[in-house]
Amino acid sequence: MSLREQLCEYGRRAVELGLVIGTSGNLSVRQGDLVAVTPSGAALDRLTPEMCPIVDVEGYLVEGELQPSSETPMHLAVYETTDAQAIVHTHSVFGTVVATTMTELPPVHYNALLLGGVVRVAEYATYGTPELAANVRAALTGKRAALMANHGGVTIGATLEEAFEATRLLEWLCEVYVRGLGVGKPTILTDEQLAAVVERACNPPQFPRR
Ligand SMILES: [Zn+2]
Repeated sequence: MSLREQLCEYGRRAVELGLVIGTSGNLSVRQGDLVAVTPSGAALDRLTPEMCPIVDVEGYLVEGELQPSSETPMHLAVYETTDAQAIVHTHSVFGTVVATTMTELPPVHYNALLLGGVVRVAEYATYGTPELAANVRAALTGKRAALMANHGGVTIGATLEEAFEATRLLEWLCEVYVRGLGVGKPTILTDEQLAAVVERACNPPQFPRR
């Protein structure tokens, strides 16, 4: 699948799963110095490959008639300082709830380790600005995910599929936390408990053969 075809596929899935509504949210995928990104102002479930602009890592439009997403500076800033090859940004409900009420998402489930443990909430700045790009970049340091204050969430991956799955996981973790608050006080996993999970994952039990 070409980079642009991938944007169409995962844009459609993001809408289907309720991770984005209308024209909110944007995706990008990188190959070398080129980045295919979803266009500004288009519904993510109605994209065609030709609609998706291609920019270079310096932000110059290389291909496409439509303007790149207004959040493209944030995508490019993240590519500049991480090993990300794909980025997914949404305004998913539970992620936005946490981003609106907290300064970080604490690890209430060991799967949070797949995103780097605690998920930081990047400080608020107007959408599309270099300030927001810098805040998100800082919040992503050493992580696969970040939340954006009063805005939404962002995840990175080695592929668009990986970044997309990270977004689904981020939303699930936020939902568990938010729903947990309605039942009682969620228990936060300790550093020791999380270290034990890493240890276990690195040394899985070998089942003996008969
Ligand atoms: Zn946004």
